[in-house]
Amino acid sequence: MNVLVLGSGGREHALAWKLSQSSRVRNVFVAPGNAGTQIDAENIAIDETDFAALADFAKRNDVGLTVVGPEAPLVAGAVDYFRERGLKIFGPNRVAAQLEGSKAFCKQTLRSADVPTADYRVFREPDAAARYIKDRFPHEGEDVPVVIKADGLAAGKGVTVCNTAEEALEAIDQIGRLRVFGDAGAQIIIEERLDGEEASVLAITDGKTILTLPPAQDHKPAYDDDQGPNTGGMGAYSPTPLVTPQVMAMVEEKVLVPTVHGMKRARNPFQGVLYAGLMMTNQGPKVLEYNVRFGDPECQPILMRLKSDLADILEACAEGRLDSIDPPEWDTRPAVCVVMASEGYPGSYEKGKTIRGLDEAAKLEDVKVFHAGTKFNGDQIVTNGGRVLGVTAIGETISAAKLKAYTAVKCIRWDGAWCRKDISDKALRHP
Ligand code: AMP
Repeated sequence: MNVLVLGSGGREHALAWKLSQSSRVRNVFVAPGNAGTQIDAENIAIDETDFAALADFAKRNDVGLTVVGPEAPLVAGAVDYFRERGLKIFGPNRVAAQLEGSKAFCKQTLRSADVPTADYRVFREPDAAARYIKDRFPHEGEDVPVVIKADGLAAGKGVTVCNTAEEALEAIDQIGRLRVFGDAGAQIIIEERLDGEEASVLAITDGKTILTLPPAQDHKPAYDDDQGPNTGGMGAYSPTPLVTPQVMAMVEEKVLVPTVHGMKRARNPFQGVLYAGLMMTNQGPKVLEYNVRFGDPECQPILMRLKSDLADILEACAEGRLDSIDPPEWDTRPAVCVVMASEGYPGSYEKGKTIRGLDEAAKLEDVKVFHAGTKFNGDQIVTNGGRVLGVTAIGETISAAKLKAYTAVKCIRWDGAWCRKDISDKALRHP
C-alpha cells in the first residue's frame, strides 16, 4: 500500500523512515515534509491542515493509510474528514483529540475516570481566577504552589509554573485578559503544583486494546542541567530507568486503562497515540497532561528501537483490531536523540543557513539523523526552523548511545548550530 504522513518535523521523518522499511509499503508520501523526508520518502506540497486537498491526493494516489503526526490537524478534525471520504487514517477524531486540545476537557475526563492528577479549578473569567488566587493565598510573600494553564493549544507555551502570587496573577492576565494565546485562553485552569521528576509513557490504542511503548524521557529546558526557557524538546532517550517495570504496570493500571475505558464509556473511543505526561510524585505517578500523538523528539529514539513493522501496527490500530497482531519487538539496546537547534531558539532565529557534514554523519554506524526544520535550497540542505535535526543513535548502553550521538553531532555544522551537552545524563543518576 501507499502511506501518507502529515507533518514536517523530526517525528514525521522518523515515522516516514520506519514506514518505508515495511515490506508492505510501496510509497511513503509526506505532506509537507522537510529535506530529510524528501530523501527517505516523497514530499507533497500540501499544508497539513488542507484536508480537502490531502484527501484528494490520497484518493488519486491509492493511499491505503494516512498517519497524522502533529496535534493541530487532529484537533481540527483531520480524522473525521478522511473517514467521511472513506479513507483509512491513524489518529483520534476531533472530539477524542480534545484530550490535548482542551485542558479542561482532559481534567474532566481524568476526574470522571478517577485517574490521579493535580487538583484543579477552571475559570472563564480572569477576574474570578485572580480573586481565587488572592483569597486562597492572602499572606504577602507566601509560597503560591500553583500552575496556570491556558485551556487550548498554545504551542507548549500556555503553562506557567508559579511560586508567587505575582507570577500567578501575571499569567492569568496574559492568558485571560491580554489573550496572548488567542481563543486558547477562553478558559483558565489553575492547578495544584506537583513536585517530582517527569516522565512520559506512550501507548497506541484502538479504543479497546492498549499497547504501551517503551518509556522515554524528554528534555524540555533549553540548556544543560535543565536551565533556561522551555522548548519543544532538546533531546530524548529510551528506555528511561525512571519508569521501572513496576511503575509502568502502575501507569497502565491507574492511568491508561481507566482513561481508555472512560473515553469509551463517554462514547468518545480514543484511537491513536495516547501520550501521558506524568509527574512521579511521592504518592505515585500523576498525569500532568495528555498528548494525542507521538512526542517529538521522544518518537525518534522509540522508533529507532522498534524491530517490528510499524505499518502493520498503525493499520491494525486504524482498523480497530490491535488485539489481532503480535506484540511488537523492541531492540533491547537504548537509543539517545540529541536535538541540534538554530542560534536564538526558542526565541527568534534566522533560517537559511547551509548545513554541512550530514554525509559524514550518515556514514556512522547505528546513527540516524532525523530532520526537523530543514529544506532543500537547490542541492544544498539549509536550516528552516528552530529545532533543525534530531541526531539519534543506538548503543549497547545509554552511555555508548550518547557517545555515538555526540560523535555524529560533531560532524555536523552550520552557522550558529548548538545543542545540549547532557542529553541522557539523567539516566545515569538512576542506576
Ligand atoms: P503541560 O503542557 O500541561 O504538560 O505542562 C507543561 C509543563 O509544565 C510540564 O511538562 C511540567 O513541567 C509543567 N507542569 C504542568 N503541570 C504541572 C503541575 N501541576 N505541577 C508542576 N509542574 C507542572
